[in-house]
Amino acid sequence: MKSLRVKPGTKVSLDDYDPADTGRYKSAEEVADKLKEHIDELDRLQNLLYAENKRALLIVLQGMDASGKDGTIRHVMSGLNPQGVSVVPFKVPSDEERAHDYLWRVHKVTPRFGQIAIFNRSHYEDVLVVRVHELAPKKVWKKRYKQINHFERMLTENDTVILKFFLHISKDEQKRRLEERLKDPKRHWKFSEKDVDERHFWDDYRKAYEDALTECSTKRAPWYIIPADRKWYRNLVVAETIVETLRGLDLKYPEAAADLSKIVIE
Ligand code: AMP
Ligand code: MG
Repeated sequence: MKSLRVKPGTKVSLDDYDPADTGRYKSAEEVADKLKEHIDELDRLQNLLYAENKRALLIVLQGMDASGKDGTIRHVMSGLNPQGVSVVPFKVPSDEERAHDYLWRVHKVTPRFGQIAIFNRSHYEDVLVVRVHELAPKKVWKKRYKQINHFERMLTENDTVILKFFLHISKDEQKRRLEERLKDPKRHWKFSEKDVDERHFWDDYRKAYEDALTECSTKRAPWYIIPADRKWYRNLVVAETIVETLRGLDLKYPEAAADLSKIVIE
């Protein structure tokens, strides 16, 4: 699993990462029990995080259209107590958002202590779509890698743990998924002609992602490149990474404020 974590300072070339990789597994059935265990464990750990109320977990999900951001949230977070989680989608900025610096809307929705927040897209769009479509000049977005590192560093130094997942799919798999959306009336709502247009920019996005992964994977806020052509493997790896990270925090239930043994309930 280590190898999916982008080591700070290494130059990422996505060619080195196989989107169809499934590790040592061959099928969804084979990992079903393991995934269930992780999801149960996630529930236990979230409860601890919530009770401890001193640290927060921020999960950033990025990936091309149809890479499975929504599906990951639905499956991996299915066991969590809704009281302790927020999911924040980042769309085209509103007028008000655009009237501020690009991190304004982001900092407002970082998780409070005890909570997990999942960003469905994030501030990284400001070095991805913004770069690919030249929504800002190069001299503006180029400075953002460093700004993002500073911002994330400030968060981690103030007890927000950060995990960033890039859902890595192949161009063929994206085609399959967009075609599925076209064929299935229950998925038509998910189909956007914009996604088809965005496919023309595949190589530009790939380059923009490689730079973001290269520039912004830090020790405290690492990027993970998740093989995402197989949904079951994607779910397994994401769940496992979150569980391991939360376990590493050594979370503890707080001590009671008073000596409870003396309390009598009449
Ligand atoms: P979806 O994730 O399918 O709901 O689409 C959200 C859309 O919002 C995507 O096309 C993103 O590229 C776009 N988006 C998100 N953040 C930004 C941003 N900062 N600037 C421009 N477009 C953005
Ligand atoms: Mg979309």
